[in-house]
Amino acid sequence: MKESINPNAGQHFKRRKTLTTEEYVKGILGGNRVILSRAITLIESTRSDHYQKAQEIIAACLPHAGKSVRIGITGTPGVGKSTFIEALGTHITQATHQLAVLAIDPTSQMTRGSILGDKTRMASLSSNEKAFIRPSPAGDSLGGVARKTRETIILCEAAGYDVILVETVGVGQSETAVHSMVDFFLLLLLPGAGDELQGIKRGIVEMADLIAVNKADGDKIKLAKQAKSEYRNALHLYPPKASGWTPKVLTCSALEKTGIQDIWMTILNYKKETEQSSFWMSKRQEQAKFWLYETIKNQLHQQFFSHKLIKNKIENIETAVVNGRQSPFKAAEELLQLFTSRPLDQ
Ligand code: GDP
Repeated sequence: MKESINPNAGQHFKRRKTLTTEEYVKGILGGNRVILSRAITLIESTRSDHYQKAQEIIAACLPHAGKSVRIGITGTPGVGKSTFIEALGTHITQATHQLAVLAIDPTSQMTRGSILGDKTRMASLSSNEKAFIRPSPAGDSLGGVARKTRETIILCEAAGYDVILVETVGVGQSETAVHSMVDFFLLLLLPGAGDELQGIKRGIVEMADLIAVNKADGDKIKLAKQAKSEYRNALHLYPPKASGWTPKVLTCSALEKTGIQDIWMTILNYKKETEQSSFWMSKRQEQAKFWLYETIKNQLHQQFFSHKLIKNKIENIETAVVNGRQSPFKAAEELLQLFTSRPLDQ
């Protein structure tokens, strides 16, 4: 039997019973993890009736959401993200917080796997009653995964999770997506001078509110300290942040669980400072606006390309454009006209 990521899942619940929207909402607000998981599955579903129901649940949960610290964590594979999330997560839950760990994983599109899909990652958090771990949905576009993660955050908050960690691999555009849904962005790097910024793009470093040099243990301690001062100097070259916050650089060992407390304190300080300056709230408002337009864009895109008439015509038109028989602009206009003049039920 396939094991559940959440140990309590499926205990008191008959899986087949279809729940009403009210039952979902009641379950989520009551902190029922099984119902929360099922609601997230609705969010992830490609069926339009599931989508509709998910939207109703999200709308009902929204007034109860928002009261959390949303933290994005990124870093190249092997930097120690899952070990770090275990260490930080354990620390956070000991401090009476409830933690949800989500992931945005562009590689899962190809492998149909997930950076959080492997249960052996974060083994101790998986059995922690105050932690909820949800793998990234597989087989979807980055935009799709990002929307679903954003919606999942709302449900998790409504269920009482007051710290949300969104993990991503530091190799692509997914950081920008994560950045658009979190309050605080943490970049994990490895010690070792010379491998400057380790293939992490400048834009990602620029987004970071905190750089943590991980694996500062054993014979790497000195190297980690060196890296810390190098990154600190490098950060001075970036323009000041709109938040007014000066990005911090710290060292830690996720394995030996050192430096973790300092990192958590830094996150809490950030929250305090930016709440006082009201940047915290204005950033969330900006993000909500961003998601409004992003959702419209994605929905239109999806509706356009799944439309019957468009599907029938697009291949021929593409060939005509490629062979120079038709201009791309005229062709696009023709297709868009076809789309906008369609009967509503098509
Ligand atoms: P991820 O791919 O970024 O999630 O990295 P993992 O958490 O899977 O860690 C990759 C490897 O680095 C594993 O062998 C970990 O045991 C090791 N590792 C993670 N954190 C530390 C650390 O703080 N110190 C040391 N020495 N090793 C670590």
